[in-house]
Amino acid sequence: MFGKSFFATFAVVALAATATGCGGGQESYASIVDKAKNDKKLVIGVKADQPGLGLRTPDGAFAGFDIEIAKYVAKELGVEPKDITFKETVSANREAFIEQGQVDMVVATYSITDARKQKVSFAGPYFVAGQDLLVRADDSGLTGPETLNGKKLCSVAGSTPAQKVKTEYSKEVQLQEERTYSACVDRVLGGQLDALTTDNVILAGYAAQHAGKLKVVGKAFSTEKYGIGLKKDDSAGRKAVNAALTKMFADGSWKKALEGSVGASGFAVPEAPQLEQY
Ligand code: GLU
Repeated sequence: MFGKSFFATFAVVALAATATGCGGGQESYASIVDKAKNDKKLVIGVKADQPGLGLRTPDGAFAGFDIEIAKYVAKELGVEPKDITFKETVSANREAFIEQGQVDMVVATYSITDARKQKVSFAGPYFVAGQDLLVRADDSGLTGPETLNGKKLCSVAGSTPAQKVKTEYSKEVQLQEERTYSACVDRVLGGQLDALTTDNVILAGYAAQHAGKLKVVGKAFSTEKYGIGLKKDDSAGRKAVNAALTKMFADGSWKKALEGSVGASGFAVPEAPQLEQY
């Protein structure tokens, strides 16, 4: 009664149903490796206001070191640059965007931390930065974290530098938390706040953008290992992304990307870091 074609149709429908997640009809896959292989498309969360790292250009494209990392990794997973959708993330929504499936991965000056590992997985690190201070060029009083007493600081909600200020310097300073670092830059330039604190490599980009008006203090007081955020427990994804990074470090693309992006700010280009095993 039921011919071959009935069962074939049934099987196709059943397969399609299992590949469809609950996220508004979007396909959901166990690993980014499967998503890349089957869809040939990826949505990648990046910053949009950090010169040299992740910046939306006037034509609506994205540029910077994180963008180069994202493109290289995507290509290794089988996805061409034209098939990447870059989606802006801010520091506070990166875990949520990954957990909700709004992005397939995050490449956004995203430090690997134990707290974040409760919610997401990390490949990498692909870069190591350190928390520093950005001050007005004529400020000679703020010379490092030991001179923070009585100062008004700006940082971004959901970031590790804001967290460090709250846990270690809460008695000395007043902290204003903004949504983005560029909002902090405006407040320091305008004189309402004394300094912006976040990773030195991010600050170098703003100092170059506002040469003569802003400077980086240059005394890093934390270690920020930039990872690529993936869905929690996507160990196949972590392995594949780490393999892509290993290749990028070895074939010279990593150094070239770094020199061509972050290098413009005068930031000293380091050696590639060791990938984390866990
Ligand atoms: N790397 C730090 C973090 O992940 C600061 C930079 C940022 O907020 O993106 O929180």
